[in-house]
Amino acid sequence: MTAKIIDGDKISEGIRKNLKKRIDGLRKKGTEPRLDIILVGNNPASEIYVNKKMQSSKGIGMISEVHRFSEKAKQNEIIEKIDELNADEKVHGILVQIPLPPHINEQAVLDSISPEKDVDGLTACNLGKLVTDERAELMFEPCTPKGIIRLLEHEKIPVEGKHAVVIGRSNIVGKPLSFMLLKRNATVTICHSKTRDLKSHTKNADILVTAVGKANFVTGDMVKEGAVIIDAGISRSGGKVVGDVDFEQVRKKASRITPVPGGVGPLTVAMVLENTIIAAERKLRF
Ligand code: NAP
Repeated sequence: MTAKIIDGDKISEGIRKNLKKRIDGLRKKGTEPRLDIILVGNNPASEIYVNKKMQSSKGIGMISEVHRFSEKAKQNEIIEKIDELNADEKVHGILVQIPLPPHINEQAVLDSISPEKDVDGLTACNLGKLVTDERAELMFEPCTPKGIIRLLEHEKIPVEGKHAVVIGRSNIVGKPLSFMLLKRNATVTICHSKTRDLKSHTKNADILVTAVGKANFVTGDMVKEGAVIIDAGISRSGGKVVGDVDFEQVRKKASRITPVPGGVGPLTVAMVLENTIIAAERKLRF
């Protein structure tokens, strides 16, 4: 079997076209959706991700602004800026690019974002709503897991009753994705660095999602014939951006596979834009 490659660039292009129409609709009602991004320090990967978000928002006609802080910025300086953006009627979405420097309490900074402007869905409030389903209509789902679910939906890959194995348990990818798959009635196994005999789990996966950040981490022998492989990992190997999956090996066994780049990444960016538009639409409604 040779896997069909899931084209994240193309899927995200379709989503962005639709978002552009929603922006036009908002504009007619006098609202200009706006995304504000906080960038702390000079992490090269963060610079790239922020540029991508800025370019994409510009591409659909959304206002966006980056607020830069030095590597040595104090936590309260960043929170003061977030307070200012929380109070600004013109701002619909606030995103803090992570990771933050080690002297800053990342979750404390994230939790200072108003939940109704938390378009990355990483405040304890939004993550809590995701887990409990309580007031889920007001929640923002974290963008990478939301993008992964959108890829599965687009490809009409059934989730209910399937065994989904997620490698990685971060608050930004692995944990929220596991709950989102569970909500869709998958049987979910979460693996991490202390998991024993990882292969015995991955070999049983109908859907295998990996979010580790190590090149060639998932090899052909770890994958069941016909499995769906979603690679959220990003790292560098031989001067190239790669995912966690040994693409050439795994491709020969899987039924579908996402490439890196051009798989999950473009969906993450599209979901940031979509969540910002949702925030602007909700503000008009309530
Ligand atoms: P993270 O917080 O570093 O989490 C990595 C996870 O991998 C941890 O849960 C860790 O387990 C697990 N892990 C590490 N070594 C392992 C091993 N040998 N066996 C099994 N599990 C292992 O990273 P993250 O923020 O979730 O990001 C993960 C990857 O996704 C990175 O490459 C990142 O760049 C990428 N990413 C991509 C997007 C996108 O849009 N495509 C968005 C966000 C992140 P422990 O918990 O036990 O340490």
